[in-house]
Amino acid sequence: MDDETPRSIDTVAVTEGEAPFETGSEAGDVVSPIHLSSTFALPGLDTEMRLEDVDPDAGEFVYGRLSNPTRHTLETRLAALEGGAYGAAFASGTAAIFTTLLSVVEPGDHLVAFEDLYAGTRRMLDDVFVSRLDIDVTYVDATDTENVAAALRPETTMVWMESPTNPKLALCDIGGIAELVADRDAVFGVDNTFASPYFQRPLDLGADVVVHSTTKYLNGHSDAVAGAVVTDDDTLAEELRFLQQVGVGGVSSPFDSYLVTRGIKTLAARMERHETNALAVAEFLESRPEVTAVYYPGLESHPDHALAREQMSGFGGILSFELDGDIDDAKRFLEALSEFTLAVSVGGVESLIELPAGMTHEPLSPAEREALGISDTLIRASVGIEGTADLLADLERGFDAMAKRSPASSD
Ligand code: PLP
Repeated sequence: MDDETPRSIDTVAVTEGEAPFETGSEAGDVVSPIHLSSTFALPGLDTEMRLEDVDPDAGEFVYGRLSNPTRHTLETRLAALEGGAYGAAFASGTAAIFTTLLSVVEPGDHLVAFEDLYAGTRRMLDDVFVSRLDIDVTYVDATDTENVAAALRPETTMVWMESPTNPKLALCDIGGIAELVADRDAVFGVDNTFASPYFQRPLDLGADVVVHSTTKYLNGHSDAVAGAVVTDDDTLAEELRFLQQVGVGGVSSPFDSYLVTRGIKTLAARMERHETNALAVAEFLESRPEVTAVYYPGLESHPDHALAREQMSGFGGILSFELDGDIDDAKRFLEALSEFTLAVSVGGVESLIELPAGMTHEPLSPAEREALGISDTLIRASVGIEGTADLLADLERGFDAMAKRSPASSD
């Protein structure tokens, strides 16, 4: 192996950007220290200094919002994980998405988005970009690339996708959409939160920019709210850097940056285990008479299974399923579980479960939920890394509780 051979993502996740003696410590810390200082002493007065020229790679720092050594370590690692030149860490996935959209669109522009988006992103688009910034948004069923093609207009400056989506785990053809966008003056962004860079790298497939809620798999331990943006596009990077550091300022704190950097070290090991458990749970659910549908890209029954095999290197740890019953059955099922915690969010080592209609997707109107196929008995699970048998036994407990209907509801 020569020096040109790229390091595997497993290795990048453990060490990229974190070299003893090179990350702001004289002591040779193997782990990048948490730099809490909000400001940095300058070696002398340089009246010619321009903030854009301050180079964190060369150990230059001025003020904590602009850059910080702990955040810089994380940003270097994020860029390498997604195979991009520029990485930026934010205070939340929402801040990362907002800043990315704002760095592209201007009043009067048009944006095409997957209709099955994270509900918070959809609200941001509707209630901020459409209502206040005069951006026109068209939502499409992007599982068919033709629908994306048909929605594009001369004034379309951005195409925004998630794949797999939340909560139905639908996929869009990232490479196919990238080709559509490539010959236009538009930017193609992908929210890669559900797959993580371990299983999918949108920039390699042709996307211009990729974002994450690093709150989820990248941190992986449900103890930090954070976000990331990675791109290879220099013009976009310049605009993003300006908005991250000056125009919006929603940066990741030093402590959260440390936590996410630490979490990323085990990304490969965690993702493998999430996937093994999720496949076992999905197959178990498919075998149950109480379940009418299971949505997991790793199942052959999933409509986008072939595409998942092509554009992903694994299927991830999130699935959703439809219970045969009503909302009371769903309540009995969910409340009987003890290994799966009833909570929103995904991507942590512990298994979480929720009812999108009443929790994550409650902000959508009933009509919007119906159009997206989010029924009152659709359940989303983020399968953790616990013992597989314990998780299956827990779900069995839920089905037992469903069977014990109260006399009033048993007819
Ligand atoms: N993108 C996706 C796919 C998400 O699931 C979420 C949150 O659940 C977000 C973005 C928003 O991230 P955050 O909660 O870190 O702001």
